[in-house]
Amino acid sequence: MFESLKNLLKHFTGSQDSESSARATHDSPSNSHSTKASNIHYHTLGEFNLGIGTIGPTNRNDIDQKTLTDMYQAVAAGKFNIPVNGAVPEICVDGRTDKNGNRKQAPCAAGGTLSIVYGGDLGGAATASDKTETELTVRIINMLKAKGHATGVHGDDHSNCGCGACAKAKTIYQHITEHINDIAALVSQYGISLTDTEKEAIVQQAQNRINQPDFFADDRSSILQAAQDNGSIFEELVGVHNELGIALNTKPGTTIDRSAIRARYGSQYDVFVVDAWSFGTAANDVNPTGAEQDAQRIAKAITLQNVATASVLGHGSLSIIPIA
Ligand SMILES: [Zn+2]
Repeated sequence: MFESLKNLLKHFTGSQDSESSARATHDSPSNSHSTKASNIHYHTLGEFNLGIGTIGPTNRNDIDQKTLTDMYQAVAAGKFNIPVNGAVPEICVDGRTDKNGNRKQAPCAAGGTLSIVYGGDLGGAATASDKTETELTVRIINMLKAKGHATGVHGDDHSNCGCGACAKAKTIYQHITEHINDIAALVSQYGISLTDTEKEAIVQQAQNRINQPDFFADDRSSILQAAQDNGSIFEELVGVHNELGIALNTKPGTTIDRSAIRARYGSQYDVFVVDAWSFGTAANDVNPTGAEQDAQRIAKAITLQNVATASVLGHGSLSIIPIA
């Protein structure tokens, strides 16, 4: 699956055409010409009827459009890719850093390890013993640990549950049930196609969890605590969300250096980081059957959980920046 993603990304990024500038709907009239000059278009969440949140360039008045375009191009060119040791998602896509301006150098997905928990759940990796979100989280974390993986979650310095993927997990499940076709249309642009059967299975599981009394914990921070109690590292991030795009990274063994982006463009320039290359391994490692088609569905569900999280937290003006 992710070979096709990579191949398609190469094709896609190598063939930017004239329809691109016409579709750059997120640029305001006053600054559209500097974007046109770049002649590169990145898809936005809004093009797919996604992005019901607030995080994104349209809601910012501290951003220079030319700088933003430069940043997108440099990110897309892989200029901020740095090596990681891990093979599965471990830290969150969150663009922020800790109080020292740092992040753990590890593969990223929405919620860190919780992306494997939720994506695995939606994709069919849950077992009958996973009666609550907490039980599911604890089991998946211990399963990953047993396979030699580090696990991680995060909060921030001003919230009870500072991780949006965790805080809004139920809303994200709901969003998947309501926007499955929009999300599928987005991921199909990057070489991931969902069959009707896969879409139905994922939506049904999301609906089952929403309808299941007491599945989702009322105290959202209790999930972060359960993860830490079972060995997950914890990052405390600081400040407000300044993400201006979604880096969709398919370069194996790498992530995006958030600190280096800030150092080059300014402290208000952040991106969400999705290390999609790591989803396939994660899916295999939590797949209860070992069957390839189940691993594929789980990997796709992890992908959907990442898109849905971005869509719930992010604004339609967020661009997706593929790094192939
Ligand atoms: Zn998070």
